[in-house]
Amino acid sequence: MTRLVVVSNRVADPGAGQASGGLAVCLLDAMRDRGGMWFGWNGQLVADENEIAASCSRYGRCTLMTIPLTERDHREFYLGFSNQVLWPIHHYRLDLAHFTLEAAEGYRRVNARFADVLAPHLHRSDLIWVHDYQLIPLGAELRSRGVGNEIGFFFHIPFPPPEVLTAVPEYEWLVSSLLEYDLVGFQTAADHANFCRFVCEFLDGQKVSPDTLRVSGKYLKSGVFPVGIDVESFVAMAQDPAAIKRIQRRERNDKRRIYAIGVDRLDYSKGLPEKFRAFRRLLDSYPDNSKPVTLIQVASPTRDDLKAYIDIRHELEALSGKINGRFGDFDWTPLRYIHRSVARETLAVHYRASRIGLVTPLRDGMNLVAKEYIAAQDVADPGVLILSRFAGAAEDLQEALIVNPYDIDEVAHAMRRAIEMPKEERIERHRMLMKRIRQRDACNWMRSFLRALRSCRGHLRGKLVLTTPLAIANAPAKRVTG
Ligand code: UDP
Repeated sequence: MTRLVVVSNRVADPGAGQASGGLAVCLLDAMRDRGGMWFGWNGQLVADENEIAASCSRYGRCTLMTIPLTERDHREFYLGFSNQVLWPIHHYRLDLAHFTLEAAEGYRRVNARFADVLAPHLHRSDLIWVHDYQLIPLGAELRSRGVGNEIGFFFHIPFPPPEVLTAVPEYEWLVSSLLEYDLVGFQTAADHANFCRFVCEFLDGQKVSPDTLRVSGKYLKSGVFPVGIDVESFVAMAQDPAAIKRIQRRERNDKRRIYAIGVDRLDYSKGLPEKFRAFRRLLDSYPDNSKPVTLIQVASPTRDDLKAYIDIRHELEALSGKINGRFGDFDWTPLRYIHRSVARETLAVHYRASRIGLVTPLRDGMNLVAKEYIAAQDVADPGVLILSRFAGAAEDLQEALIVNPYDIDEVAHAMRRAIEMPKEERIERHRMLMKRIRQRDACNWMRSFLRALRSCRGHLRGKLVLTTPLAIANAPAKRVTG
């Protein structure tokens, strides 16, 4: 079988027990049995480039090859360009983008280094799959080192319209470097359409079929591959007898409570202050004392050395304090705000015990929590998913209560509707949602992307090698065909 080589900025540590972040979760699920090699950063920092050495370990059938970053790389490539330019702009937050030349240079440098370390370990028949916004130019860097294999790229985050994207000073170079891949995948049809528009309007490309673009005589395949979860293992996790007993004990002591749950990294894209305000509006507008709702919000720490993240943490701490101060009682804390990472096994049983799953990001590539909440429900008495129309998941999960997360009245109203929804309606909505997440699970995502990547073999590559390389910075050498 062809060996699969996955490259992502961060390689998850399977021994760590919990991996917050959709990319780590879906790749760990997908790589567990498939095997192959996974290459990326090990999360460690060294002072100097001379100290960078690759190390290998095994995870089931998979080899994990990792390198550290230098402190400078971390500042410029990771915190700088990746998380203060690409992340905010791809999440439509131009106001939070902060661009410096050092950061852009660090981004190029680390992508080039990834290619330097990886290229000698590649076999001619490997299928290479690069993940996410930190590594956009990696394919072009590999090509310039003579790698002629099929290389695919997947955007886990949204791909905004050209009007937003062009705020990145380097964007023409970045999008041009995407043309060096054989296949570029997106979470949603809207993201894919934005990309096609950029290629056609800004790079003078043409769409020759729904999944094929031609630019300067080169062909590129692109398509929509929505990320899914390992549904059956999540169903099993949520039915763990010991955990269910714990929850039943809570319910015995707490008969009058209805639980709503939110699980998000503490990121400004997740709409947490808006969610808290909507909850406050619910308590204000519907003071129904017989059924007080408790919102459990897990907000796991992330990138907490960046100002935008420190600011939002302070905002949430103030808001949760105000809400509990105003509405709390001797026997009721309305908002349980948990600022740490929680194991997925624990999350699964809390999803199951919550009448409402509150997933209200202002912008999100997919959002796996929405799918996990559905998988964890009791089919005979399921809860209701409230889902932001700006999460990638909303393109598919239309039987959720779809809301505009900026409109706190609408979200508060949806919570009220979820509390009052008759069991028959909850069961019917949940049945449809389960069907959808099973159709598009983690295994399917991986299989369909790799099938599409494999089918690029021979089909486009012969044409590619004959064409003029794009005039981009670091213009790649001509590709070697296998
Ligand atoms: N997660 C976790 N522990 C936490 C918070 C989140 O294990 O404390 C997991 C969660 O179950 C989900 C993933 O992290 O699988 C988050 O993925 P999602 O797509 O929802 O958001 P992202 O973090 O990728 O933006």
